[in-house]
Amino acid sequence: MQPRDLSDHSPYVPGRGVEEVARDRGLDPDDLIKLSSNENPHGPSPAAVEAIREHADRVHQYPKSSHTDLTAALADKWDVTPEQVWVSPGADGSIDYLSRALLEPGDAVLGPSPGFAYYAMSARYHHGETAEYELTAADGFAQDAETVLSAYGGERIVYVTSPHNPSGSTMPLAEVEAIADATAPETLVVVDEAYGEFAEVDSAIPLVDERDDVAVLRTFSKAYGLAGLRIGYSVVPEAWGEAYARVNTPFAASELACRAALAALDDDEHVEQSVETARWARAYIADELDAPTVESAGNFVLAEVGDGERVADAAQDRGVIIRDCTSFGLPGHVRVSTGTREQTHDAVETLNETLADLGLGVRA
Ligand SMILES: *Cc1c(COP(=O)(O)O)cnc(C)c1O
Repeated sequence: MQPRDLSDHSPYVPGRGVEEVARDRGLDPDDLIKLSSNENPHGPSPAAVEAIREHADRVHQYPKSSHTDLTAALADKWDVTPEQVWVSPGADGSIDYLSRALLEPGDAVLGPSPGFAYYAMSARYHHGETAEYELTAADGFAQDAETVLSAYGGERIVYVTSPHNPSGSTMPLAEVEAIADATAPETLVVVDEAYGEFAEVDSAIPLVDERDDVAVLRTFSKAYGLAGLRIGYSVVPEAWGEAYARVNTPFAASELACRAALAALDDDEHVEQSVETARWARAYIADELDAPTVESAGNFVLAEVGDGERVADAAQDRGVIIRDCTSFGLPGHVRVSTGTREQTHDAVETLNETLADLGLGVRA
């Protein structure tokens, strides 16, 4: 026998891990700087690590109160009801829950190009179709309602990524509202705020409370440093928040993930340090890298280097792992995650040497 026809489904290709690259290139993993997956260079919150240790001997039980407590804490943080908070395995899990809750077979989703691959992947898993709106390098990947609406054809879900991955651009809330106003009543606008903490713009979550056609995605993977635990959530309109119980995978997030997230939520110092470092580093990269960059509100910077694959490959040989953006449809670009001050400094120096050796460096 065979699985169903999966030829439409493209596999998700993650950035390569430090151990993998070190083994391949005969390098010591400690000598590598990994700036390819927008992870937190400060690691997880120490309070989260402590919570994981403390609850490790209870993982024989299904998670119950930890999930309830995390949902309540998030509802409190955002001033919404617990039914509106859909805890999930990463924000990716919430994308699946929204697909399950909204898509009938053949319904479509509209998302940005370049953009986050999982919106379309999840739609396809749920027998949905996909469409794209174009963000362009020429105007710094500017995001406005007109760009989205000119591609809109009645899709059931419209994804907006703000800050946008891989460019770092943001969409003003008035534009999000304009999209929600102009689209059909049965279209949900999902604002993906995976990098929301790093931005100096307001969250769209208050819009979720005002209307029934906007939802927001958030994650503990980036600013909170818990990517390895797979924990995130969506905030959905009150009118249909109860659908969660009908679509989620039982025990949606693990005991340790919920405990760690609860502890991390309370560790303001760790988040503030993470955000401060990212804001410093994105400015440093923009100022010092010998390539044109896009203004970023995230913990990464998109740079136009001419040949992303060659630059990423050559940088990797010198111990700096960055993301070639060919898979995003941007073969001339690389995305550099922000590191600690020391990592960022060293990485930019190495990248500039690499660009010079390849004859690709451009002084600003
Ligand atoms: C990282 C990321 C996510 C969520 O990742 P999870 O680890 O599943 O929480 C969602 N959207 C974008 C654009 C991202 O870059």
